[in-house]
Amino acid sequence: MTQKENRRTAIVTGGSRGIGRAACEVLAAAGNNIVINFAGNRRAAEETAAACEKYGVEILLAQGDVSCPEDCDVLVSRTMEQFGRIDILVNNAGITRDNLLMRMSEEEFDQVIATNLKGSFLMMKAVSRQMMKQRYGRIVNLSSVVGLMGNGGQVNYAASKAGVIGMTKSFAREVASRGITVNAVAPGFIQTDMTAAMTEAAVKAAASAVPAGRMGRPEEVAAVIAFLASEQASYVTGQVLAVDGGMY
Ligand code: NAP
Repeated sequence: MTQKENRRTAIVTGGSRGIGRAACEVLAAAGNNIVINFAGNRRAAEETAAACEKYGVEILLAQGDVSCPEDCDVLVSRTMEQFGRIDILVNNAGITRDNLLMRMSEEEFDQVIATNLKGSFLMMKAVSRQMMKQRYGRIVNLSSVVGLMGNGGQVNYAASKAGVIGMTKSFAREVASRGITVNAVAPGFIQTDMTAAMTEAAVKAAASAVPAGRMGRPEEVAAVIAFLASEQASYVTGQVLAVDGGMY
């Protein structure tokens, strides 16, 4: 087989920006073909694609809403048509709708659960048949330090990210004997669009709670994702790896 035929295929949800983009780049650098999923920001997704193409791998840009089962199925069938296999799934797409519980609407609660928790469930379900058939798979789910320690104003987000951990550990047990690993990363306070909306004072306060004394960079999370997605991480499953500068 040529080197090209040997390539593995990675799907990264929410690959257009932030941690997802950094994950696409590091997985492309490791020689994987990349499926870049995004919700609506095609221009950002194209920028990710350009960064990945430098590594000579093949790219598929795939718009789709991870909270929609049909979109998840289409994402998987398009991946299969183009690449014929799915080796890595990074469930990275995520949103926040912060509010104090007493003011939080049902809609704000439901939207966050639908994207962060149900979206990860739908994508794992959509890829599982193919990974079982291959007897190989690496699934990395994005949780958060907030799912471990809680955070005022983020009841919905914390519930979704704690849910991701339970789901990760459970699915890991279901598929461990099939060569499929399922792990989670729990980033702390990372510099992306998601945290850019915070006021300077809030950033200072949050950074002071981090022993490392600074926010993390998307590449620092992506490096851990890349390890868990690698062949070398074959005996690591059901784990949650915090990438938080010592915060929790
Ligand atoms: P971000 O910069 O806000 O980017 C979010 C990404 O998710 C974008 O690519 C967006 O696509 C995509 N997305 C949103 N809703 C989607 C949907 N329904 N279907 C498909 N894609 C969707 O976020 P980030 O900070 O990189 O966070 C990435 C992940 O890490 C999230 O799961 C987040 O909860 C988690 N995390 C982040 C931090 C942090 O401090 N930043 C900390 C802990 C955990 P478009 O570009 O098309 O909108």
